[in-house]
Amino acid sequence: MIKQFFNIMGRYIRPYRKYLAWSIVLNFLSQWLNVFSFTALVPILNILFQVENGQYAYQEFTGIDKDAIINNAYYYVQQLIFEHGQLWVLIMMGTLLIVMTALKTAAYFASSAIIIPFRTGVVRDIRLEVYNKVLRLPLSFFSEERKGDIVARMSSDAQVVETALTSSVDMLIKSPIAILVYFFVLFAMSWQLTLVVLITVPVFGWVMGSVSRKLKRSSKYVQEQWGEIMTELDETLGGLRVIKAFLAENKMMARFTRTNNQYRDAMNEVAIRQSSAHPASEFMGTAMIVFVLWIGGYFILEDHVMDAAMFILYLVMLYSVINPLKEFSKAFYSVPQGLASMDRIDMILKAENNIQDPAEPQQLEKFEQSVEFRNVSFRYQNAETMVLRNIDLTVPKGKTIALVGQSGSGKSTLVDLIPRYHDVTDGEILVDGKNVKAVRLSDLRALIGNVNQEAILFNDTIYNNITFGVSSATMDEVIAAAKIANAHDFIMETEHGYDTMIGDRGGRLSGGQRQRLSIARAILKNPPILILDEATSALDTESERLVQEALERLMKSRTTIAIAHRLSTIKNADEICVLHEGAIVERGTHEELIERGGYYKKLNDMQTL
Ligand code: ADP
Repeated sequence: MIKQFFNIMGRYIRPYRKYLAWSIVLNFLSQWLNVFSFTALVPILNILFQVENGQYAYQEFTGIDKDAIINNAYYYVQQLIFEHGQLWVLIMMGTLLIVMTALKTAAYFASSAIIIPFRTGVVRDIRLEVYNKVLRLPLSFFSEERKGDIVARMSSDAQVVETALTSSVDMLIKSPIAILVYFFVLFAMSWQLTLVVLITVPVFGWVMGSVSRKLKRSSKYVQEQWGEIMTELDETLGGLRVIKAFLAENKMMARFTRTNNQYRDAMNEVAIRQSSAHPASEFMGTAMIVFVLWIGGYFILEDHVMDAAMFILYLVMLYSVINPLKEFSKAFYSVPQGLASMDRIDMILKAENNIQDPAEPQQLEKFEQSVEFRNVSFRYQNAETMVLRNIDLTVPKGKTIALVGQSGSGKSTLVDLIPRYHDVTDGEILVDGKNVKAVRLSDLRALIGNVNQEAILFNDTIYNNITFGVSSATMDEVIAAAKIANAHDFIMETEHGYDTMIGDRGGRLSGGQRQRLSIARAILKNPPILILDEATSALDTESERLVQEALERLMKSRTTIAIAHRLSTIKNADEICVLHEGAIVERGTHEELIERGGYYKKLNDMQTL
């Protein structure tokens, strides 16, 4: 488990090495200052215990002699008392203690503060990496994974990793340093007593370890439940209109209550397990102290190996070592949690992206001849049946091809294959005779413009939504595009014109207005190939006329593949293909198909009734 964690840390730690190095230095400093500030207690205690005057004589040093150092320290204090009186020395010693403590706490603060950029930085890096990956993963990934779950992985899982990192920093730097320093001093003070202490430490560790084993599994479950909650929230926000219309508030409430309670139950389990950490270590700590008190008491009462003041200092030191031990044990809880969350994040990060640029891409800068489907079949991942079967279709430059057919017949899937939102299962798609898999994705997609049934806009200004796909556009160009798209007039009527914010997903605009903005966007991008996916089907007649006009201007001199519901919008297409259950069953011009009297004529008759 620890090894796995190091692997993960290794991935993210590099840029922050210098923070960690400083943290180590500052921790050493702060722990030593801590020890020295405690040492100032001893003379104070001795004064309070009224140690007799003249008890200590100056002792010559022979090398580093612990007893001599202590003895002489006492001697100097004794001399000071002799010269200035007890009270004066007490005040001086107290002042020394305050100064030492001030230094110590300053060093402690610095050692904690220096690590913060590391903590926040790692989480930022993880989030950025996930976001980047989300942008690049193929669309098919997102039909399998639910949006809320991805949100959860990016938000709360990243947070859990942060907590785990923090406590692992405690575990790897702070606690070991503190433990090292204290045990060094403890050994120096009395190795016999300290050996006794060391026997109790493994017991301490074992108790902590035994409580934490199940934690990774249950915390993974907690995060899954959180993902569930986010998914429901996302669905609810997206579906408020329907929920209200179908009076389904109570139903949604019941569903959410259930999920919410499930999350709570899972959370209870983890939190209760977690909260046993503190009492358990508290108990173990006190037991340890009492144990030492027994033994130490024996040393003092029987053997006189140390005086009472020294023993109190020893106990204070020992008590100080308990906290780092506790911190150390806390890592046993948060590291498994962090690992569980990291696993969930890795599900996104390690997801395979099979839609990639080829190793040696062919050139594709301009569109000159045609888009061609050659015997294309397609099946969605994990689906059993083919959604498209043996499609042969050529769209010559400058022509308009229309796709019609009942919903579910595969029209959207067919057009999604051109920009490689999915890759064909069989056959090939060629642009100017080059396989779409053999050219760079960015080259391919630069040639293609989309206008969809639901205009996809972002919560930004009108200007920024129109210039979305282009890096440099002048205001004049934007206005020209908006005029062609029949959008300029309504834009000027909004409060701030082109600087008006359009709300979440364009919520402050009507459907037709949104559609015209997305047409303006396509006009500005100026792609040679245009894909229209039922661009007018969601509109009322008046907006449809405006949008249709805009579309016709857009389609002029471009190569267009249009999916249409209303046949009136595609009457002039150069070729109309009727799709049925994934195969092209009829093709020809409007007149030819009417004359043929087949499926298309039936559709046409139904719509002209
Ligand atoms: P159309 O655009 O003609 O309405 P689609 O291309 O959207 O048809 O869908 C064709 C078929 O593919 C449908 O049967 C649909 O259930 C299926 N389908 C669409 N998207 C997916 C997907 N992401 N995963 C699996 N099956 C899908």
